Amino acid sequence: PFEVLIVGGGPAGAAAAIYAARKGIRTGVAAERFGGQVLDTMAIENFISVSHTEGPKLASALEAHVKDYDVEIMNLQKATKLIPARTEGGYHEVVLENGASLKGRTLILSTGARWRQMGVPGEDEYRNKGVAYCPHCDGPLFKGKRVAVIGGGNSGVEAAIDLAGIVAHVTLIEFDSQLRADAVLQRKLASLPNVKIITSALTSKVDGNGERVTGLSYKDRNSGTEHDVELEGIFVQIGLVPNTEWLKDTVALSPRGEIEIDARGETSVPGVFAAGDCTTVPYKQIVIAMGAGSTAGLSAFDYLIRLPAS
Ligand code: FAD
Repeated sequence: PFEVLIVGGGPAGAAAAIYAARKGIRTGVAAERFGGQVLDTMAIENFISVSHTEGPKLASALEAHVKDYDVEIMNLQKATKLIPARTEGGYHEVVLENGASLKGRTLILSTGARWRQMGVPGEDEYRNKGVAYCPHCDGPLFKGKRVAVIGGGNSGVEAAIDLAGIVAHVTLIEFDSQLRADAVLQRKLASLPNVKIITSALTSKVDGNGERVTGLSYKDRNSGTEHDVELEGIFVQIGLVPNTEWLKDTVALSPRGEIEIDARGETSVPGVFAAGDCTTVPYKQIVIAMGAGSTAGLSAFDYLIRLPAS
């Protein structure tokens, strides 16, 4: 059994592992895919102090740094169930998809999140070639170009306002007959000269020239007619889904399924901590996930040293 068992091997899990292992306590990381979302990322330009790097390069640096310490990495292991300790200071159990289970006196949950996809032709083919999900990450790559934002909820409208200050033109496409964002955001959006809002529109296809996005097609849901828009980028903002389905009924989750944590990263279950995109932390970014993972690692250590000697 581990003193600190981390579930999830993205930036948050890697940071938690390093902070815990540096305390000299038995630390393990179980991850479905070590590296996490970073593996799917191309250019990274907001990893502070590194002007430019690429996802796969950062992912292997994460792994190398964790391996500098005595951390047991269990890659390709998917957690399917959490059985909390029955007594304070007892072992929490994490059941894996292959039927085995792991035990930790403390747990750090860092299973991240995934962007909801449109599921239309061209989306996969042009991911990172014009199809993007994170305006904070990729907005500046489209400076002076034309982009669309798919989704008129808060995140879509925030993205459109943000991008309008960087790119030449933004087309916001919403499936419903009206936007769902807060009124104050909608007013701000309506005041911008380089934004066009299209409602009752179903995005049907991402168009490209084999190398990059050149446009998109949508269907007007009132008339049934198809329309094409020429552009260079598409930001999909139809939801970020936390990977917490396996935690229902154990730790407290927000209505959006994010693990509720306090400022120390502790969840509703004593001895169980969480960090990164799977939590209620505002803003989902690499540096933020790393900071949160470090907080959780230190909090787990603090918890352990306060347990009565057994
Ligand atoms: P993740 O990176 O999602 O890692 C989660 C880990 O948990 C993975 O190892 C996963 O396999 C594992 N896991 C999930 N479920 C289970 C389970 N049931 N059992 C076991 N393991 C599980 N951020 C930036 O700061 N800059 C950027 O430029 C940037 N660009 C991005 C581009 C793309 C295309 C994407 C998708 C994201 C981008 N982000 C960027 C966001 C950034 O990648 C995330 O904020 C960050 O990776 C979150 O780290 P995390 O450790 O919380 O979660």
